[in-house]
Amino acid sequence: MKMFEYFSWFGPKTTEGISLEIEKRDVSAMKDAGEALCEQVQKALQQKKSVVDRQIVMVYEKKLRDRFQKLGNLNQKCPYCGNEHRSLQMRETKCTQCKKIFLVQKRVQDLGTAAFMTEQKKQFDLQWKVVSDIKRFKLFLAHEYEYIQKKLLKEGKKNLQESEVMHALLGAYAKNSLSAGHYRLYSAFVFYQAELMRSEQRFAEALSYYFYVHFLHANGVDNSASFQSNTQMNEELKMRIGELLDLGDLQMKKMKGLYDYAILHLNRFDLKCLKSDLNQSYAIVVKEFRLRDEEKEEIKPMRSFVLYTKAS
Ligand SMILES: [Zn+2]
Repeated sequence: MKMFEYFSWFGPKTTEGISLEIEKRDVSAMKDAGEALCEQVQKALQQKKSVVDRQIVMVYEKKLRDRFQKLGNLNQKCPYCGNEHRSLQMRETKCTQCKKIFLVQKRVQDLGTAAFMTEQKKQFDLQWKVVSDIKRFKLFLAHEYEYIQKKLLKEGKKNLQESEVMHALLGAYAKNSLSAGHYRLYSAFVFYQAELMRSEQRFAEALSYYFYVHFLHANGVDNSASFQSNTQMNEELKMRIGELLDLGDLQMKKMKGLYDYAILHLNRFDLKCLKSDLNQSYAIVVKEFRLRDEEKEEIKPMRSFVLYTKAS
C-alpha cells in the first residue's frame, strides 16, 4: 500500500487511458478484498437487468460474417479469367492469359493458399487482423483455469472445450471483481470476454462487449468501487473496435443502435451513480472515430448538381 501512495505523487497516467491488463496481484487483491466496499457496491449496482431486443446483434453479425467470407480460390486458377497456373508462389502473379495481376497468400479461414483479386487485398488483410492476436489469459491465470475446469468436470460437463472453460472463468471472475468493487479489473475481464468471442468469430457480439468496456472506461472505473474522471480512450480498445468497424465497413457514427443495445444489455451499474450516461459516452467514441468515419464516407454528387436535377 505504501508503494502505491508513493507513486500517486506523480498522478494517474490519464494519457494512457484505463488499463486492460489482468495481473496476478490485481486478481489476488480482488480475492482478498472482503466486505470492505460492500455497501458502496450495493448502492452502485442496479437491481434488475433490463431485457433488450437482440435483433440488432443478429443484423450486424450477418453483416460482419459476410465480410469474413473466404476470398479467392484454392484451385491454382487466376481469379479473373480462371486460367490455370501450375505453380502458385506466395506473391503477386501476372496471369499469362488475361495479363491481370492477382495475389497469392494464405487465407485465415482455412490457411489454404488462395489466389485472389488485387481489389480484395484490403478485406483480406482485415480478415487476418480481426482474428489474430487473441490474448491468452489462460497462461497467467493457470491456477484459476484449472480450478474452473475441475469444477465443470465435477458438474458432469462432457467434451469440455478450452473456450468453455475460459468463458466460465471470465464470467465468474468478472462477477467477483464487480461485487468486490474492483471495477477496473471487471472491465478488463469484460474486455477478455470480447477477445474470446472475437476468436470464435462472433464479431458483432464481441463489438458490443468492447462498447461496454468503453462505456465503463468513459465512466472512469477504478479498483476502489468508485469512478474517476477519464476521457482518454485506451489505445488497444480503440484498435479492436476500429478493426471490427473496418471489417464491416461500418462508421462509428452510425452504430448508436448497437452501442445502445450493448449498454442496456450488459450494464450492471445504476445509471444515477455514473458520470457519463449512454449518450455522453457514445459521443466520446464517435469523436474518437471521426476521421476514420470520414474516410468511409461515400463520394456523393455535388450539392449543386442534386439541386439542379431536382429543379428540372
Ligand atoms: Zn487471368
